[in-house]
Amino acid sequence: MIQRILVTGGAGFLGSHLCERLVDDGHDVICLDNFFTSQKSNVVHLLDRPNFELIRHDVTLPIFLEVDQIYNMACPAAPGHYQYNPIKTIKTSVLGSINMLGAAKRCGARILQASTSEVYGDPEVHPQVESYRGSVNPIGPRACYDEGKRVAETLFMDYHRSNNVDVRIVRIFNTYGPRMHPYDGRVVSNFIRQALAGHDITIFGDGEQTRSFCYRDDLCDAIIGMMGTDDFVGPVNIGNPVEFTIRELAEKVIELSGSKSKLVQRPLPADDPTRRRPDISLAKEKLGWQPKVPLAEGLQKTIDWFKSIDLGDYRPPTP
Ligand code: NAD
Ligand code: UDP
Repeated sequence: MIQRILVTGGAGFLGSHLCERLVDDGHDVICLDNFFTSQKSNVVHLLDRPNFELIRHDVTLPIFLEVDQIYNMACPAAPGHYQYNPIKTIKTSVLGSINMLGAAKRCGARILQASTSEVYGDPEVHPQVESYRGSVNPIGPRACYDEGKRVAETLFMDYHRSNNVDVRIVRIFNTYGPRMHPYDGRVVSNFIRQALAGHDITIFGDGEQTRSFCYRDDLCDAIIGMMGTDDFVGPVNIGNPVEFTIRELAEKVIELSGSKSKLVQRPLPADDPTRRRPDISLAKEKLGWQPKVPLAEGLQKTIDWFKSIDLGDYRPPTP
């Protein structure tokens, strides 16, 4: 059935892919974004579609729209972006969630929260299962993001229990692909940019820390699947369970891009999680989902996209 769908943060990396998928599926899509970490070019190809609308708006302020579903994706996601203005980051998660949950309550809409593996902090449990409550430093430089997302989960569950709001929570693990902001400072974008320019590849720490990288198409399948479930609120881990060290990632990027770049070490940022890998048993059981795109294939597509863009079209985030 055709739905009226609001995607907050809809011009961002993941949001723009989600909008594209939902527009192609025939839904009436409203993309809401303040363009803090994105630009109109991510959705410009959708602007002449009759079932797509773009609104420049900040989720920390209320908005009145009539919709059936809300994907709450608005929030800077890369450490460099969310630490740029940490107070704004936490406001975006907390006030943004309150505003969107209020909208969902008023409209009787189903609402999905894009939560994160960061709710687990630097985890003592490996791989991470949804029942693990996490190890977050509440006063560290990552806390504005991690704690903001944790409060957002609390708000979602309280609106669900107290006000019967139909919520869904997904905990997204590191996701990459075309349209990631080339200057977001995240490891995939940094390594690809550095490799293509023939610059040194910056490994933070000894490079033995791990991450598990999910390709954006797999991620979109999972969150659309989660929005479509009728009896499962979550939270559910969404990510690729294949774990790589950061050094292995650097070597893969060099190999796939045919680069002659060398690896150099830089200091490890504070509170950088040592390892991260999702246990996706719950997603498999409840959504029948698991990722299909292996790292080499997804990285190749991302490298090709980086080759196709003009880096001059991208700017660092502004307040
Ligand atoms: P992104 O930075 O590309 O997208 C976020 C979008 O939200 C941007 O378009 C930005 O301009 C917008 N935004 C930020 N603050 C806003 C505000 N106050 N009002 C309106 N719009 C605002 O990041 P992404 O990787 O696409 O992440 C999307 C969502 O998924 C985020 O909520 C993020 O926390 C979550 N997530 C992403 C990952 C990942 O690896 N990409 C991992 C875990 C969680
Ligand atoms: N990292 C790195 N070099 C870079 C950027 C990041 O070694 O140029 C490391 C970073 O310290 C972390 C991992 O790569 O251990 C993933 O970092 P990212 O910022 O992509 O996301 P995180 O998972 O930490 O939120």
